[in-house]
Amino acid sequence: MPALFPAHSLTAVSEKIRAGGRLTGGEALTLFESEDFDALSEIGSAARAARHGRSAFYTVNRHINYSNICVLDCDFCAFGKRKREEGAYELTIDEMTARAKEALAMGATEIHIVGGLHPAWKFSVYLEMLRSLRELSPSLGIKAFTAIEILHFSWLAKTSVERVLEQLKEAGLSCLTGGGAEIFAPNVRDRICRGKESGGEWLAVHRAAHGLGIPSTATMLFGHVESYEDRIDHLQKLRELQDETGGFMAFLPLAFKPAHRLSHLMGPEEGEILKNTAACRAYLDNFPHIKSYWISYGLDLAGRTLAFGADDIDGTVGDELIYHMAGADSPVSQTAESLRRTILNAGLEPVLRDSFYREL
Ligand code: SF4
Repeated sequence: MPALFPAHSLTAVSEKIRAGGRLTGGEALTLFESEDFDALSEIGSAARAARHGRSAFYTVNRHINYSNICVLDCDFCAFGKRKREEGAYELTIDEMTARAKEALAMGATEIHIVGGLHPAWKFSVYLEMLRSLRELSPSLGIKAFTAIEILHFSWLAKTSVERVLEQLKEAGLSCLTGGGAEIFAPNVRDRICRGKESGGEWLAVHRAAHGLGIPSTATMLFGHVESYEDRIDHLQKLRELQDETGGFMAFLPLAFKPAHRLSHLMGPEEGEILKNTAACRAYLDNFPHIKSYWISYGLDLAGRTLAFGADDIDGTVGDELIYHMAGADSPVSQTAESLRRTILNAGLEPVLRDSFYREL
C-alpha cells in the first residue's frame, strides 16, 4: 500500500533545499509530480553544484559479463538464459583476463563484473576469477557482483554473507555493484522479479559490505509498474542505510527497458528521466554522486541529465550485454573523448576518475 503524502508547493520545496533542509517523502512527491522542468533543472543543478561545483565525472572502464546462465528468470530480464537455451554463454577465466588486459592496455582503471546465477559453478570459481584479475594490476578497480550474486555465493559456499564478502575482498574485490535493487516494494518486486532477493536482503548485503570496508553503488530500476510512492519508499530506505554506514559512493537510476515478459510495458520517456534525476538528487542528500548511465539513456540524454542533478556519466564500458540483450540501441562502448565532449557540451568540466572517485 503506497504511503499517502501531503501536498507541498514547488517553491517551498525549492527554498527548503536551498536552505540545506532534508526533504520529506511528501516534498519528494512534489518534485516527481511537477511538470515545471525549468524549476526541476534549477533544483537539480543547484544540488549538484553545491557538491561538485562545475565538475562532472567519467571513467575509462570495461564491463565483463562472465555468463548469462542463470537459475532465476526475472520477468524483465532478457539477459538470463537456461544452460541449454539458445544464446547461453560462459566465459573462461582466461577469456576474462584477456579482456581485462586489453582494457588495461587502453587505459582502463576499472573492470565491472556481473553475471547470472550459474547453476554449476562453485564459489571457488569466483575467487579464482578475482585473483586472476587482481594479479594483472594491484591498482585496478574491480567492481563486481550484485547483492543476489553474493547471496547465491553464500548459498553455494554454505557460509554467511559476511564470510563470502571477506573472502571476495581478500581475493581482490574493490567494491560491489549496485544491481538488483530494482524497486524494494514487495508488491512491485513480485510483478517484475519474483524469486529474486527481497529489498531487505539487498540492503542487508550492502550493509554487510560497508561494515567490511567494501563500498558500493545503489540502483533503482524505474519506469515500469511502480508508483512515485514506491520510488520514494525505495529512496528512503537507501537514504537511511547511507545515514547508517556512509558506504554508498553513488546512486544510479536505471531506466526500465521493456523486454522478456514485460515487453508490453512502456519504458520511461525523456521527461520522466530528467525529472527522476532531479528528484533523486534532491532527496538523496547524503549520496555524494548521482550517475547517469548512458547505456540506459543514450549519450545525448545522459548529457542532458547533467543539467538536472547528475554529476557522473559513468565510463567507456565496452561489451555491455544486459541492456543490449533487452534491445538497447545505444552503442556498446564510448571513447573517453566522447564522454569528455558530452560533459563539456553541458557546460561542465570533465574530471577523469577511478572507481573511488579519485581524480586521475
Ligand atoms: S536479472 Fe539477474 S538474477 Fe534475474 S534472471 Fe537476469 S541475470 Fe538472473
